[in-house]
Amino acid sequence: MKRQISLLALMILAINTNFASAAPIYTFPVAGCTVKYGKYHHTYPATDLFAKNGCAFVAPIAGVIDEVNTVDRWRGRTNLGPDRGGLSVSLIGEDGLRYYGSHLQKIEPNIVPGYKVATGEKLGEIGTTGSAKGTKPHLHFGISYPTEKDIWWIRRGVGLEKGKTTPWKYLQAWQAGKDLKPRLNTPATIPPEPKK
Ligand SMILES: [Zn+2]
Repeated sequence: MKRQISLLALMILAINTNFASAAPIYTFPVAGCTVKYGKYHHTYPATDLFAKNGCAFVAPIAGVIDEVNTVDRWRGRTNLGPDRGGLSVSLIGEDGLRYYGSHLQKIEPNIVPGYKVATGEKLGEIGTTGSAKGTKPHLHFGISYPTEKDIWWIRRGVGLEKGKTTPWKYLQAWQAGKDLKPRLNTPATIPPEPKK
C-alpha cells in the first residue's frame, strides 16, 4: 500500500511537471517581432523594448486587466505625468505584481479593466503615443506593486530587488523560456507624486 501511494505521488509529480513545461507562467511581452532592449533606462527603472510599429504587446503573465488608457492626451508643451504613457495597459498578474506597457498605437477592443487574460494573450500594438511621439516605436515596460487608479509614477515601473533594478534580467529569462518571478518590495507608504 505504501509503495502504491508513493508511485501515485510520483505520477502526480510527473503530470504537474509536464503541465508546468507546457504552460510557462511568464512570457516575453513582445511576440512575433525582432526586439532590441537594454539594461538601463533614463530617469527611473523600466525597460524600453524597441520593435516595429504594430508589433504585438502580449500579457507577460496571466492575470486581470487593471487600467487601460485608450486616448492619447499627451502634449509636448505640458508633458503631464499621467499622459506620458499615451495608449497604455496594465494588468495585475497572478503573481500579485503589476505589469504595464505604454506608447501603444492600438489596444485590443476586448482589453478592458476586469478582463481576465491568459499568458501571451495580445493586449495591443507597439507605437509612439504619449511622450514617445517622434521617437523610434517602443514598448515602455514597467513592473510595480498594485495601487489605486491613476498612480502613474508607480505604474510606469519601480525599482526591483533592492530598488534600482530594471526588468531587464527578467525579460532575458522569459525570452529564454525560463520562469523567473520578479523580486519587488512593496513599501509601507506610496512615495508622493514627483514634480517632474
Ligand atoms: Zn521608457
